[in-house]
Amino acid sequence: MMQDKQYLMIPGPTPVPPSVVAAMSRPMIGHRSEDFAALHRRIQEKIRQVFQTKEDVFILTNSGTGGLETAIANVVSPGDRVLALITGNFGERFTKIARAYGAEVDEVSFGWGKDVDLSVVREKLAGNPGYKAVLATQNETSTGVLNDIAGIGALVAETPALLLVDGVSGVGGIEIRMDEWHVDILVTASQKAMMLPPGLAMIGVSSRAWEVIEKNRAPRFYFSLPAARKSLEKWNTAYTPNVALFQGLDAALDMMMNEGMENVYARHRLLARAVRAAVRALGLEPLAADHCASPTVTAVRSPEGLGADDIRKVLKEELGITFAGGQGILKGKIFRIAHMGFAGKMDVILGIGGLEMALARLGYPVELGAGVRAAQEVFLGRNE
Ligand SMILES: *Cc1c(COP(=O)(O)O)cnc(C)c1O
Repeated sequence: MMQDKQYLMIPGPTPVPPSVVAAMSRPMIGHRSEDFAALHRRIQEKIRQVFQTKEDVFILTNSGTGGLETAIANVVSPGDRVLALITGNFGERFTKIARAYGAEVDEVSFGWGKDVDLSVVREKLAGNPGYKAVLATQNETSTGVLNDIAGIGALVAETPALLLVDGVSGVGGIEIRMDEWHVDILVTASQKAMMLPPGLAMIGVSSRAWEVIEKNRAPRFYFSLPAARKSLEKWNTAYTPNVALFQGLDAALDMMMNEGMENVYARHRLLARAVRAAVRALGLEPLAADHCASPTVTAVRSPEGLGADDIRKVLKEELGITFAGGQGILKGKIFRIAHMGFAGKMDVILGIGGLEMALARLGYPVELGAGVRAAQEVFLGRNE
């Protein structure tokens, strides 16, 4: 029985709602059929609301990294100058992709746990450095830091550079306004706040970006956005898509539309607030400062003398709860609690209750119930 009672609280893949699982279990349909075209069209109408864009959003059958590669492959030619704003592991990955395509990358690292400093961006963009693109991460999953995409977008929009945003662990859980915030390419993926299994990337492309994409002569095939656009005109995809995930996406978007995006965003902010209050009540500290705290994932420093991975091991082996560990330079130093997508108040209560037990088992002086109580108080509106 306990093998099926698992509590997955990592920043992707995330739990999938039963109605989405049911939609994915429907009979297969042909991807060149009228039924698929109707499905694709319904998805398009809804996903544009999530992206807050009037532009096309392409649904590609690959992981989030494939979506990031699509953005780079269609924009960057060898020798192009690119500015990379790095706040952790995923900012570094975006940079590596740009390098792989021959970009000359100007890297600015703000430190793991810090957010992008707009004054640095302003300085970098001043004096006409000739950047073709600026790379930014909306929600840095490795550190639980939320970056100010509206602020970055306002600065980049004053230059000829395109703004490419990795929104993989944010879109669907954290507000983003692609058009209004001057985001030229926005990428997300299915397995984070979108409540689906892994396997789809979604990518919105602005008209400003299209001017660059059409002129770009760098090689691309599976990742070609012009090919994707030609197919979307017929509510089709260039190659065989993951049809089951498209069916699931339709259902997941219905759930979001029914809840209302404002409510979805408020739910995520509330969960983050509760988690932060709870870990502080246990004497632990979130990695990110309050002003840049991610609504979808919270990274927590492990206490002095306790390894973060030891806490995770007890949680997993004794309680069936999975938290994520640290990546890169934060390995063993932090654990990360995801509260994204199909996540609610009781998930936080459960995760924090488990954390208290794991800390106690490892001999850390913890007042049982203190974290749970802090979270409950946030949910009851008692600690405004
Ligand atoms: C998960 C994640 C990715 C990578 O997505 P994959 O689907 O694993 O390729 C990229 N960026 C961010 C911010 C992520 O959280």
